[in-house]
Amino acid sequence: MALEFARRVRRIPVYPAADGYAVPGDVALLASNESPDPPLPQVVEAALEAMSGVNRYPDPTNAALRARLSGRYGVPANRIAVGNGSCDLLLAAAEALLEPGAEVVYAWPSFSVYPHLAALTGAAAITVPLDGDDRHDIEAMVEQVTVATRLVIVCNPNNPSSTAVGLDSIARLVDRVPRHVCVIVDEAYCEFNLLEDPDSSIGLLGAHPNLVLLRTFSKVHGLCGLRVGFALCGSEDFRIAVDQVRQPFFCNAAAQAAAIEALSHQDEVARRVERAVAGRLALVEGLRDLGLHVAESQANFVWLGLGPERDEAQVVRGLGERGVLVRAGTALGREGFLRVTCGTPEENDRFLASLRALL
Ligand code: PMP
Repeated sequence: MALEFARRVRRIPVYPAADGYAVPGDVALLASNESPDPPLPQVVEAALEAMSGVNRYPDPTNAALRARLSGRYGVPANRIAVGNGSCDLLLAAAEALLEPGAEVVYAWPSFSVYPHLAALTGAAAITVPLDGDDRHDIEAMVEQVTVATRLVIVCNPNNPSSTAVGLDSIARLVDRVPRHVCVIVDEAYCEFNLLEDPDSSIGLLGAHPNLVLLRTFSKVHGLCGLRVGFALCGSEDFRIAVDQVRQPFFCNAAAQAAAIEALSHQDEVARRVERAVAGRLALVEGLRDLGLHVAESQANFVWLGLGPERDEAQVVRGLGERGVLVRAGTALGREGFLRVTCGTPEENDRFLASLRALL
């Protein structure tokens, strides 16, 4: 007899994971917005050193990491939550904030984990279409806030559309959302945003106890394989609640040690951002030369429209046959689009040459 699962399991969409983890040989992995740069040797060494003590559980309070994050971002450690990747914090936020009858507001297309939050908890998902420039329509999102709203999420820069809204828009949003409604600004890609100092949003935390800035070591720090994310919060309430709904040892010892070490290498972060932005400019220019529509990217990936006459699945397959893996827009919420990560200069060239050949 088949197992009888909870009803919500049928509602939860399957996460559209990228292909390519098992593909052998020389493949350009441009499908998951990872860093093409391997972790720094000092970071690997810190993780290896932590391995020698794994007969003990990791520090469940993540005290050393939170203290280092506090020093780096100027937010008190009691207002910093750590997660097994920032996805872990998103899911914990849903568990802590949502339930049947509650509403969560977010833009669409946006990060593919957001639909899980409502499905998991029985809350209603209120999605607001991006504007004509593929940006968050902040005014329209504010209008969707009702007495039932418990959570508003803004992905800035937005995955998959790559665009960002300015700090003024975020400030307007938090000014207009009631204090009892949690606002998460998912800043997984903020280091790549040239519109704003990536840390400018931290200034809003003092006046907005309901604001949470979600960050990750997965992108610019290149540690997605270890899974560490964190949240800088306007009050300690969010940290206490997300810690309450999770298992105690959500962040392993090697991940904590690697993240601490990574924070000592801000010069490398700057170099990586520079390389990613150079790649982004090359990709945008190459794609526009092909006559394609490309959104105004502030991330480490680009979002392009193939136009009505081209078959998205065929293009993705053709690129795959040439050893270039990208994400098809349909899986991410918009047909006829591709999301392409900025890779090494060689990978970017290979993608552009393959696409040119296909079109
Ligand atoms: N937020 C956004 C917008 C993302 O694109 C991602 C990763 N693709 C995450 C959060 C989650 O990253 P992680 O769990 O690796 O920290």
